[in-house]
Amino acid sequence: MNTKNILALTLLSFFFPILLTAQEDYTYLSELEEIICKEQESASRFDEIRDYRNPASDQSDIHYQVMRWEIDPAQYYISGEITYYFRSRTDHLTELILDLSDALQVNSVERHGTPLSFTHTDDQLLTIDLGKDLLTDDYDTLTVTYEGAPPSNGFGSFSQGTHAGSPIICTLSEPYGCRDWWPGKQDLVDKIDSTDIYITTPTGQRAAGNGKLMHITEQDGMLIHHWQHRYPIVAYLVAVAVTNYEAYSDFVYLTEDDSIEILNYVYPENLEEIKVATQSSIDIMTLFNELVGIYPYADEKYGHAQFGWGGGIEHQTMSFMGNFSFGLQAHEMAHQWFGDKVTCGSWTEIWLNEGFATYLTGLTFENFSTNNYWPLWKSSTSNSVMSQPGGSVFVDDTTSVGRIFNGRLSYNKGAYLLHMLRWIVGDEDFFASLRDYLETPGTAFAFAKTEQLQAFLENRSGIDLDEFFQDWYYGQGYPSYDLQWTVETDSLVMWLSQSTSHTSVSFFEMPVPISVQLDGTPTLFVLPHSEQNQRFAFFVGDASVDSMDIDPDLWILSKDNTITELMTSVFDPIDQDKYKVFPNPAHAYIEIVPVDNIASITIVDVLGQQHRYDYSGGMISLNGLTPGFFKILLSNSEERILSIQSLVVVKP
Ligand SMILES: [Zn+2]
Repeated sequence: MNTKNILALTLLSFFFPILLTAQEDYTYLSELEEIICKEQESASRFDEIRDYRNPASDQSDIHYQVMRWEIDPAQYYISGEITYYFRSRTDHLTELILDLSDALQVNSVERHGTPLSFTHTDDQLLTIDLGKDLLTDDYDTLTVTYEGAPPSNGFGSFSQGTHAGSPIICTLSEPYGCRDWWPGKQDLVDKIDSTDIYITTPTGQRAAGNGKLMHITEQDGMLIHHWQHRYPIVAYLVAVAVTNYEAYSDFVYLTEDDSIEILNYVYPENLEEIKVATQSSIDIMTLFNELVGIYPYADEKYGHAQFGWGGGIEHQTMSFMGNFSFGLQAHEMAHQWFGDKVTCGSWTEIWLNEGFATYLTGLTFENFSTNNYWPLWKSSTSNSVMSQPGGSVFVDDTTSVGRIFNGRLSYNKGAYLLHMLRWIVGDEDFFASLRDYLETPGTAFAFAKTEQLQAFLENRSGIDLDEFFQDWYYGQGYPSYDLQWTVETDSLVMWLSQSTSHTSVSFFEMPVPISVQLDGTPTLFVLPHSEQNQRFAFFVGDASVDSMDIDPDLWILSKDNTITELMTSVFDPIDQDKYKVFPNPAHAYIEIVPVDNIASITIVDVLGQQHRYDYSGGMISLNGLTPGFFKILLSNSEERILSIQSLVVVKP
């Protein structure tokens, strides 16, 4: 469900020529939450999304389809004729099974004019008896003719409406709506490699479709629109919209005489305003071409077709648009690379479509806006993710459609995963990896899984990302950092600890950026955080440390971070690394090992309040301490400090 009310509405607010105040930002966030709730609701109408798969998905490979449809937008009806050219992928293929609603009537199935027998009963499947036994790699062809009023499933995979009194029919098949209006294999296994679509309409109508418009011919008082697409397309992205569209084109110039057409089909009553709005698409495509490679279908077209459904949908080469906000144009166009060219290989990995589209929209703000929209995008997106303590991008409950299409996790946290990966591997390797993902045979024009994206990132960067994906993709929650610092002679010494918001991750290994004002100049230190109470020291000479900030550019999902300056005189440990506190985090008690030379321990909270205990070994009760960060000073009998440890106290 790529229809992004979320972005259409919320990012629109970014483009009002005002700076959002804290109060307005808060309103924006609650709106976002509300819209995400609505999205979950509409997505949940697809009961059958759970692991649905055409039983014949793996048995055949559709190479080419010719689809002929007759659609009059004034009639809620479709008649169609589809010819399939396919290859067997098994040694005994005796039938072809297509998804098709029982509400539609199959008139005939033929091979070169010879009828084939079929069943189309009450199981939403059209099962065709091939009348022969195909071996692996044998080719076959057959033609199905059908007609009827598509079922109304309340969501509108085939929907009829009006605009300014004119009728429109348009389709929206993601994830499993194509069977409502055409027989095909709706799965994430087999793309149709090549298509020709002929749409017959009454005169005065235009039909939007996938690929290149070859010609419109008049025949018997009707118009036949021929769309040709020579790229693989997944069934749910095949789309048609018919109404009295006005058409105009914009062009993205690659060189002086090489350009990509952006063909816009819009309602006559909105033509002038949309002509202005779609100028943004030229800039957006120019940016995406630079960041992730030239638009995948450059030799055919990109385009928009206006429709009445809220939000938009990334139909291949022609997104259907409920409005023309900048954010929605960016989101749907981004899907042409991420979602269309490379499609998530399972609905449970929908973040490979939606996380990317959300992030690329953010990148338009980073690259275009001269004001604070990019920081606002980052803070709004991360605040949305951290509005709850848990939740993984990995879909851990495949029985819940609302879980799969969860805006907070599949869209926003997915986008932030990409942002953090970019921070870890660096811009050059990050964007090179995305190009590998988009351009390598196997994923290019095919399907992808998260592990393939991880492999491309690891190949480019040489960084093992297993831990990252364990913590951030499968794991839930985020860290809260506690930074304590002091200046010892000529060095800035920092101790970094973290607590986590969810028990599924005990520690997020991350490079943590710390911005330090040294003599009034901001200086960035990156702390490779791998353990609690980790000590970092940097030579600063005689520069004064004025202030510091954890992750000021919002590279990492984290919140409720604390920074404490420690009194220099207190800290002069004799044997810093000898001692360990466990457990840590702790809730009921702690123990120190080894006990050697320890006479007392002092637990100091972030406000400097101290709790002192004599110590000769064993457990120390934490009764009376509120959860939070503490320093523990271990002292010998002469009151000399042996070691300083950090402690995180959590709720039981
Ligand atoms: Zn989307």
